[in-house]
Amino acid sequence: MSGAPHGGSALAAVEAALSALGDDPCHAFLEVDHDGARRRATALDAGPALPLRGHVLAVKDNLAVAGLRCTAGSRLLADYVPGHTATAVERLVAQGAVILGKTNLDEFGMGSSTEASAFGPTLNPRALDRIPGGSSGGSAAAVAAGVCRLALGSDTGGSIRQPAAYCGVVGLKPTWGAVSRFGLVAYASSLDTVGPMAPTVAEAMAAFRAMRGPDPRDATARERPLGSGPSAPASIKGLRVGVAEGWAAAAGLHPGVREAVARAADRLASAGADVRAVALPEPDAALAAYYVLAPAEASSNLARYDGVRYGARVPAPDLLGMYERTRSAGFGPEVRRRVLLGTFTLSAGYKDAYYGRAQGVRAAVRAAFLQCLAGVDVVLAPTVPGPAPRLGELTDPVQLYLLDVFTIGPSLAGLPALHVPTGAADGLPVGVQLLGAPFAEETLALAGEILERGGP
Ligand code: GLN
Repeated sequence: MSGAPHGGSALAAVEAALSALGDDPCHAFLEVDHDGARRRATALDAGPALPLRGHVLAVKDNLAVAGLRCTAGSRLLADYVPGHTATAVERLVAQGAVILGKTNLDEFGMGSSTEASAFGPTLNPRALDRIPGGSSGGSAAAVAAGVCRLALGSDTGGSIRQPAAYCGVVGLKPTWGAVSRFGLVAYASSLDTVGPMAPTVAEAMAAFRAMRGPDPRDATARERPLGSGPSAPASIKGLRVGVAEGWAAAAGLHPGVREAVARAADRLASAGADVRAVALPEPDAALAAYYVLAPAEASSNLARYDGVRYGARVPAPDLLGMYERTRSAGFGPEVRRRVLLGTFTLSAGYKDAYYGRAQGVRAAVRAAFLQCLAGVDVVLAPTVPGPAPRLGELTDPVQLYLLDVFTIGPSLAGLPALHVPTGAADGLPVGVQLLGAPFAEETLALAGEILERGGP
């Protein structure tokens, strides 16, 4: 893989990234900040050495970077330039990372293929006729194409792990609350997380460690509670690994993914882990609950795009008409579908039947995950049902929702989850998902590093 060298000159890294990018044949980026990246790299090279100097960073375009457009993949925000920078980005920049540009995504993070971007789809660099996954498809593609070795994504129900899986890169969805969401365009706040994508577990973890922790600008960002969080085991020896047998045997799972899970279990066992079968909650119930809860939260979060405070405005003779025209012209079909659905499930008379019930399912799913994780340190599961589908292949929104069947449960439970690529099936990347108790990212990394080294 080409791309940016590490630890050396920041300017050399930026030039290498720009030449690897070329004219961006996969359309990974919505904006490339050539001049800004070169300027900042030159300044870094003249200053003291910083831990992330030489790291070129691609930022999903729903994370604010002061002075760069932040579209969230939406026409409504096509010209929105924030004056603030997301805390996660700011912390990487403070350690010497250089922002190369902003990457493509499904509008407001709502989608599984990056085909729902208002600015056209991203192609999968591993196979140009395939989707890169979504919603962080541009970030995954930027890493997979060898443009940069670090990209930020957001994961509400799978948007870091699923594109990482389709593009064959590492993706970490942190524990909910482990990384500040200040500066993230909100989708479903009780689920939204910000996390890294990289070619290796070590690089993803270096970024996570730099970003994590409390932030005065996001009251939900926190350290793990003192004394009660999991401590990272020093070695794989004796690590208790549960294999999500029901999930791995699920009907419709591609044999290549099933085999990836089985091989990963063998690999961890031969490295000394104590591997056993575990039962996780039915993924279908989680999926159904998510597609009630996430649109409900989205309908509320997206109420702010009213033509007054942010982004585009389509004038009309009266205020209500202005709201209607602005939102109708600004939002794409998937976002409109979610806003309608969410508004319906929250409306008087239906709230208890839909939103309330989905909250009940979420609580049960979370309890079941936590109970399972009380008995093991790591759970090994599939990330996605199969290798990347073709662009344009999935036309029914429900087919796209089903791509999240294994990523959504851990999101509802607020757990950390790490996708590690382990090989190929049908010439396309496959890998596995590692799940842990809240704040067990270091434990996931320990197992993930064993898996990426390959072997039996
Ligand atoms: N595909 C899921 C959705 O559309 C998850 C997206 C995400 O994690 N942002 O909601």
